[in-house]
Amino acid sequence: MEMSPLWYPYTQMKYLTVHGEVTHGEGVNIHLADGRVLIDAISSWWCTIHGYSHPEINEVAKTQIDNIAHVMMGGLLTAPARDLAKELIRITPKNLQHVFFGDSGSVGIEIALKMAVQYWVNLKQPSKQKFVALTNAYHGDTIGCMSVCDPEAGMHSLFSGLLPQQFFVEPPSGGMQATDAQVQLAADQLETLLKQHHHEIAAMIVEPVFQGAGGFRLYSPSYLQKARQLCDQYSVLLIFDEVATGFGRLGHLFAADLADVAPDIMILGKGLTAGYVGHSATLASHDVYMAFYDIEKSKAFMHGPTFMGNPLACAIALKSLEIFERDNYLAKIAHIESVLKEELADFASKKVKAVRIQGAMAVIETQTNTDTVGIQEFGLMHGVWLRPYQNYVYTMPPYIISDDELRKITNIMKQWLMD
Ligand SMILES: *Cc1c(COP(=O)(O)O)cnc(C)c1O
Repeated sequence: MEMSPLWYPYTQMKYLTVHGEVTHGEGVNIHLADGRVLIDAISSWWCTIHGYSHPEINEVAKTQIDNIAHVMMGGLLTAPARDLAKELIRITPKNLQHVFFGDSGSVGIEIALKMAVQYWVNLKQPSKQKFVALTNAYHGDTIGCMSVCDPEAGMHSLFSGLLPQQFFVEPPSGGMQATDAQVQLAADQLETLLKQHHHEIAAMIVEPVFQGAGGFRLYSPSYLQKARQLCDQYSVLLIFDEVATGFGRLGHLFAADLADVAPDIMILGKGLTAGYVGHSATLASHDVYMAFYDIEKSKAFMHGPTFMGNPLACAIALKSLEIFERDNYLAKIAHIESVLKEELADFASKKVKAVRIQGAMAVIETQTNTDTVGIQEFGLMHGVWLRPYQNYVYTMPPYIISDDELRKITNIMKQWLMD
């Protein structure tokens, strides 16, 4: 038996199936060596928001490589890093005024968690070392990130002995249309916890409005308004993990805009660099920043990923953002949402437990995990790349997708799951 030199993510290697060798990508399409062409229904884990090989982004990347692909950020400046920081400050909630770059979403979260703890240490409240997170949360795969992922339903329960123990509360039930009572119930649970433990809590961290890898769940934005108010009341920072929701996925540039709530710290990743190279941005409020700004050197933030502010990543991100605004992607996303609703909102069958649609995201939650077995192969037969997960079949397509391509995806989902 030949052993794979590549160790695959989230995969029992004994049962590894590799569906094809990718040679190139163009638009929404992934091209395979055997000639097959697949529509990418999930934007390569939610990041290729302009599809593949966007001509303008390719050009910027090539030019930047010819100038300089990478230089350390310690003590040096590049125009792409400076300009991207300015742009991110311009487009995110007003209070966010400073950008700390990282090289992946998970690293961006780790940076946020460390920042929150040191914020309180610098303010002479060193007992505030813990976090509140939501059940079903997913914030990444590194140690600190794992500790704020759902400890039971999440994929990291085996590491519970290693991880710092955090606090968890439930997000409100009822989805986007939750009643006031449903939202209040969840807010009361949060308040009970904060009242009792605020002196040991540095921050609350949430995926705002949409919990991705933890089950493609939507919850009421008005919960975030209540959480904001409670965090202020109990001196707890509020962190938005917008790694998945940032750059339009829910129909607004950020979930913070949808909820009309400004966090103290916000993390961007995935779509930030249009799926070209890994990078993240952890944005901090002026208030957070000023807790580090001091004559005392020991108050400095001791963090610095080798590749932070990588000029290639930043040049790509800048061009991506320029195209996003110039070509009015929010209108494209609103249109994708309308097609997804037309095709899926009323879809029902014995296998279907729920359908959730928001922006350029649609998920069909099936009754059991076995209901989704086989749909990936079915999609492959028909030229659609899906990656179902447990009992979730979803699409989060590149925003440049055409109606026909989008309907091809939704038809595959429906055909496999209909009675
Ligand atoms: C993907 C994801 C992360 C982790 O990002 P990586 O780039 O994979 O490290 C963190 N938070 C959320 C909400 C994500 O979807």
